[in-house]
Amino acid sequence: MRNRCSCSGVSKSMETIIDTAYLRRHIKDVPNFPKRGIVFKDITPLFRNPKAFGIVVDGLVRQFKDADVQIVMGIESRGFLLSAPMAYVMEVGKVMARKKGKLPGEVIGCAHGLEYGDSVLEIHADAIRKGERVLIIDDVLATGGTVGAAVNLVERLGGIVVGLGFLIDLAEFAQCEGRKKLAGYKIRSLIQY
Ligand code: AMP
Repeated sequence: MRNRCSCSGVSKSMETIIDTAYLRRHIKDVPNFPKRGIVFKDITPLFRNPKAFGIVVDGLVRQFKDADVQIVMGIESRGFLLSAPMAYVMEVGKVMARKKGKLPGEVIGCAHGLEYGDSVLEIHADAIRKGERVLIIDDVLATGGTVGAAVNLVERLGGIVVGLGFLIDLAEFAQCEGRKKLAGYKIRSLIQY
């Protein structure tokens, strides 16, 4: 059985309709974190609730069920929490894109900006095989800088990016340069603000 999505306790109606109002109730706005002027989307209450967490994982899996995914790549760190159960449900491998200096083997890296600063993302140099179909997962899409770096890493290793999945899309950043560069990719999110 390639896809266990429908066996995970989600009701029949949930298979096609996601109750975003319910999910939103488990996401907290934290003003001025980690910097003044940023409204941080705190998803810890959502992970605390097994029903909400299940809806999110199953909902994201469904968005990419026809994408013939071979590897799910999670972006550190909240992207790991979503991508690991997704890879398990999809019965595919999981790769970690980590912040600089965390991975023990030979790495390739890409510097990028994000809503509240700059960072460097790295993956192991042998993490993706040529021609492998990769789905990239993170919790929030804002300026697109972080996921853009993840795309860069996958493509430098010869992987094919078949989708970019997020729990939250902060639509106010839709006109950012980083977002425009993602135009050709299949982008899916469960909640838009
Ligand atoms: P960006 O690169 O600007 O698209 O930012 C996305 C990355 O930064 C993700 O890894 C998020 O975890 C984090 N992030 C950016 N903005 C927020 C926000 N308002 N609330 C929570 N996380 C955010």
